[in-house]
Amino acid sequence: MRLTVLGSSGSMSGPASSASSYLVQAQGFDRETGKMRTWSVVLDMGPGSFGELWKQMDPRDVDALLISHGHADHMADVISFYVFLKWHPEGHRAPLYTAGPAEVRARMAQIDGYADEDEIVEMLDFHAVASGDVLQVGPMRITAFPGNHTVESFGFRIEGPSDDLQSTTSVTLAYTGDTDSCDGMTEMAQGLDLLLAECGFTEVEQTRGIHLTGGRAGVLAREGGVGQLVLTHIQPWTDPEVPLSEAQSQFDGQTEVALAGSTWVL
Ligand SMILES: [Zn+2]
Ligand SMILES: [Zn+2]
Repeated sequence: MRLTVLGSSGSMSGPASSASSYLVQAQGFDRETGKMRTWSVVLDMGPGSFGELWKQMDPRDVDALLISHGHADHMADVISFYVFLKWHPEGHRAPLYTAGPAEVRARMAQIDGYADEDEIVEMLDFHAVASGDVLQVGPMRITAFPGNHTVESFGFRIEGPSDDLQSTTSVTLAYTGDTDSCDGMTEMAQGLDLLLAECGFTEVEQTRGIHLTGGRAGVLAREGGVGQLVLTHIQPWTDPEVPLSEAQSQFDGQTEVALAGSTWVL
């Protein structure tokens, strides 16, 4: 599997990046064609990220779009995706499988101004996610874990084949969405090869129940015994070195900051 950062800016788009969006891809067999191909899942679609996705691939080839929660910084650009699919001059393909917390269905329509949600799901085939749901996308097995945020929010754990095609080992990565520490995230992090953890706060902020800090992301990585930690959703006004050093004070493994365009190959 490989993870590409389409947008990593926390809570808003910023001068260095679009807001939250991540592309996860794996090689796998397609029963319809009888051939191997690249399967692509997009996690979140924050403001500005649709264009970043388009830089990486034809958006019509995305297999599934998963939304962690209904805050605009994680989903506002679904409307760009909708317009692209509906009005592409070469015609549209089958609707895109889209999933997230139940309230996201109405929010997608609200962003576009549609009174009728059914217009949106013609192109973005929406499925409400519940804790523990498992979705199979080609060779990738995706499980939803509940977060601790101001609205219903999920993290996604993805198990799939190693990018080394000689290897038969499966690899795992997970993305926290927006969350403070909670049992769901602790469970999700167990034994991961890579944890992509938000840290919308630093240790200076005392508010609980919204975001991780670098330190709490580090604790999550340590307690999960993860292979490597990638920090994301850092606010544009925060020096990334602050959450990075907070995380490194809790976690001895490889720790990096997610930058737009960076890729990790597992
Ligand atoms: Zn956010
Ligand atoms: Zn949020």
